[in-house]
Amino acid sequence: MKRAFTLSAVLTVLLCAALPAHAEWVRRVTDGIMGTRITVEVWADDAAKGNQAIDAVLDEMRHIDETMSTYKPTSEVSQVNARAADGPMHISKELFDLLTAARQYSEITDGAFDITYASVGYLYDFRKHVRPDDAQIAQALPAINYRHVILDPANQTVKFSQKGVRIDLGGIAKGYSVDCGIDVLKGLGYTRAYVGAGGDSRIIGDRFGKPWMVGIRDPMKGEGNVIARIPLVDAAISTSGDYERFFEEKGVRYHHIIDPHTGHSASKVRSATVIGPYATRTDGLSKTAFVLGPDKALEIYNRLKDIDAIIVELDGTVVTTEGMKRGKRPE
Ligand code: ADP
Ligand code: MG
Repeated sequence: MKRAFTLSAVLTVLLCAALPAHAEWVRRVTDGIMGTRITVEVWADDAAKGNQAIDAVLDEMRHIDETMSTYKPTSEVSQVNARAADGPMHISKELFDLLTAARQYSEITDGAFDITYASVGYLYDFRKHVRPDDAQIAQALPAINYRHVILDPANQTVKFSQKGVRIDLGGIAKGYSVDCGIDVLKGLGYTRAYVGAGGDSRIIGDRFGKPWMVGIRDPMKGEGNVIARIPLVDAAISTSGDYERFFEEKGVRYHHIIDPHTGHSASKVRSATVIGPYATRTDGLSKTAFVLGPDKALEIYNRLKDIDAIIVELDGTVVTTEGMKRGKRPE
């Protein structure tokens, strides 16, 4: 009797070892990297492997945070802000490439996207309800202009054309980190995954014949209310909203997207969602409507063949690119 029990126990162990691992969705939500919420979900051979892959994504995001954050005085971007007005400064290929991409988004958006917004932007502290007065803005404003950032590809250097220029990659770094996270997963062989950082997400693959559904928050209502759920496969989506980081004073809302032309909060829409192939691109384009207004922004988005957008205007009206309308029309 004792022997039979032992034998069956051994057989069970052997059988379990021989069975294929149990594939499943593995999901993790992490706070604290890049000051935002990171969500990663993968279809993995088993939970342990999935968790290892998620660890690798989070490591990559921590590295980007260490390089790009202006909150960290040791970051490469902080070093650039401290020294690039003194002359050309050699920087990493990664930062050089992202600065090059940032410049392209400035050109595409008629200067609405501009990482030198920080020349004035650094005077705001939305958590502490601090904002610059008109005299401070007027003094710092000439330093905002993406053309002040001079990139030399041959020597991989950056230089600021004048003192007072500051850059901040907060408008593109989350999207970039999402793309890097997806690249990590692809490199490990994953074909179905979701990576999200704050308002920026990207998806590879589908959910076994079904698309992923990504909700767009209703900017007129509290968290958890959505204006639409967008079905997505192999796509990135970024939403910018005036509810993300703001404070109000005498009925005026001061929030974290800055109009590079005025140095004030850009308040021409309530929210803008951009859908495209990469999160760096959708992030770089999602601030445009706040600065230029819905009409000019839609003109730009409609020109870009790989981009769609959904904008919530100040009165709550929802407007979209032509591609979104076509998508809804039955063929
Ligand atoms: P999130 O940070 O949640 O992804 P957004 O994508 O809307 O939100 O980006 C907002 C951030 O973009 C701001 O916190 C700031 O760092 C940066 N930013 C603000 N104004 C501009 C601008 N005109 N051009 C480029 N970046 C900007
Ligand atoms: Mg973003």
